[in-house]
Amino acid sequence: KRRIAVMTSGGDAPGMNGAVRAVVRMAIAQGCEAFCIYEGYEGLVQGGDMIKRTEWEDVRGYLSEGGTLIGTARCASFRERPGRMKAAKNMVIAGIDALIVCGGDGSLTGADTFRKEWPGLLEELVSKQELTAEAIKPFKYLNIVGLVGSIDNDMSMTDATIGCYSSLHRICNSVDSINDTAQSHQRAFIVEVMGRHCGWLALMAGISTGADFLFIPEQPPEKDWKKEMCSIIHEHRKRGKRVTIVIVAEGAQDQELNKITPDEIKDLLSNDLKLDTRVTTLGHVQRGGAPCAYDRMLSTLQGAEAVKAVLEAQPDTPSPIISIIENKIIRKPLLEAVELTNEVAVAIKARNFDKAMNLRDAE
Ligand code: ADP
Repeated sequence: KRRIAVMTSGGDAPGMNGAVRAVVRMAIAQGCEAFCIYEGYEGLVQGGDMIKRTEWEDVRGYLSEGGTLIGTARCASFRERPGRMKAAKNMVIAGIDALIVCGGDGSLTGADTFRKEWPGLLEELVSKQELTAEAIKPFKYLNIVGLVGSIDNDMSMTDATIGCYSSLHRICNSVDSINDTAQSHQRAFIVEVMGRHCGWLALMAGISTGADFLFIPEQPPEKDWKKEMCSIIHEHRKRGKRVTIVIVAEGAQDQELNKITPDEIKDLLSNDLKLDTRVTTLGHVQRGGAPCAYDRMLSTLQGAEAVKAVLEAQPDTPSPIISIIENKIIRKPLLEAVELTNEVAVAIKARNFDKAMNLRDAE
């Protein structure tokens, strides 16, 4: 009987609970035993009660819950080998040799490092007499499967990460609310949305709300953007628009890679266009709340596929992530996806913005 564990790690995202539920239930349906690791890698390093056998009923109701009910954490010790050694020992004690991690690129990179070190970590534990040679015998290989959970949609090789559409939905609702009050007073609003270094949420929010202007890190505005933005907004006002919405990604920057701040834009609209302008930073409301229908579906299909990937893995199969491309749930090599994702940042730094956009879309 395989014993498969699931954890959520890094930033929380709506839909992570759906992924946990799907992994647990698919594992049980396939005749395996399921485990949840609480508080991300922190739980794996601590062991004991943080690794819990999970039954079918334990995840009842998870599909519609926001956040992550099994907790998540940033864990400094897992970044170092001694921390991963403790984690390996706890896995062997719990009898687990397959780990499905739902998290961002950091969490998935950590998982793959763990897999690579696995036999070495176990041998070292034996040489330090923390485990017996007999105890590690059944644990030759570690299966890692990644589920990409992030509101940012910042991973290459997948069209959508678990959580991004719920977050987009929340942003749209918030901008709709702002729109109502802005319309009443003929105000302008600069709305900052999350996304770290990724502009996907801002771009989609801009499209979905019909914003007047948009700033994203991958495609900085033209050099004379201040003039261009003011002239476009002025034009919209001339045509009778009573409201102005400018969406700014938190990682927005100009072509010289200087940060573009909401306050800077506010000053421009206030001083040059004489608009009554306010800044709204949406902040953590973008992360919370019930997952949207798409994230419930995505997390369920991908969680089930992750268990299949564990059961079908051969010793030399590279760790996969479960992705969705053109509406098909498929497996992609984890390391390649992370490397492509990292290349986006490199392209932006080199001011090769078209390449950055293409890399974000890479399959
Ligand atoms: P995300 O998974 O959302 O990108 P982080 O980058 O903060 O979030 O990663 C979450 C956790 O994953 C970290 O706190 C750490 O425990 C682990 N982790 C991240 N990067 C690595 C790495 N290179 N090696 C080992 N563990 C890592």
